[in-house]
Amino acid sequence: MLNVISLLFGAMIGSCLNVFICRLPKEESSITPGSHCPQCSKPIRWYDNIPLVSFLLLRGKCRNCHRSISVQYPLVEGITALLSLLLFIRFGPSLNYVIYFAFVAALVVITVIDLHHQIIPDMISLPGIGVGLLASWILPGTSVVKALLGLLLGGGSLFLVATVYEWLFKREGMGGGDVKLLAMIGAFLGWKAVILTILLSSLIGSIVGIAVILWKGRDFKYAIPFGPFLSLGAVIALFYGENLILWYLTLNR
Ligand SMILES: [Zn+2]
Repeated sequence: MLNVISLLFGAMIGSCLNVFICRLPKEESSITPGSHCPQCSKPIRWYDNIPLVSFLLLRGKCRNCHRSISVQYPLVEGITALLSLLLFIRFGPSLNYVIYFAFVAALVVITVIDLHHQIIPDMISLPGIGVGLLASWILPGTSVVKALLGLLLGGGSLFLVATVYEWLFKREGMGGGDVKLLAMIGAFLGWKAVILTILLSSLIGSIVGIAVILWKGRDFKYAIPFGPFLSLGAVIALFYGENLILWYLTLNR
């Protein structure tokens, strides 16, 4: 029963995240005006604004102008609901659940904004670093030292990569947003998870990058935002980090 509630809660928060995602890059207020169709600006009634359900009932079209609603809306709601459920199964009704859910919700917002606009808003990553450090102080099983090392390793390593890349190729490869994002991930998950996040995101990023180049015929200069891969790597590290590190250590024995 509680699992179902965590799933519904996640879908509701996902619905709010969609509003952030649309309005944050435009610096619109997230509270007023109420939800409206991005195409015809008609306000959306509460019964058309139920996460996932409304999208299915309306068959992905606005009730007023009948133009398509982006699949981004149900995707964000569905993924946020799933993450909420998985975290609840892992941590139960605890402060860990609340804090890690806030963390993955921030990653969802960052991922979609980075995919659309190739930016990672400081408005999320910088306060995120602060919340991560504070959380490491309160939460059982973490420590401020681990979080600080994670913050320095995450921010520092990408800063180094970005500086060397710029020096070699005379153009920006990795944005400052990625540096701050990995610093935030480090503050929440600690330095071990930062190493795992870098490995996983580079691996997945290369596979997807090569696939995009082969499929769309773009060259290597086509910048693929790295934020989504860092976020995915961090979520995998959060759920399976311990197991992956143990597995790696047994491989090398
Ligand atoms: Zn409309």
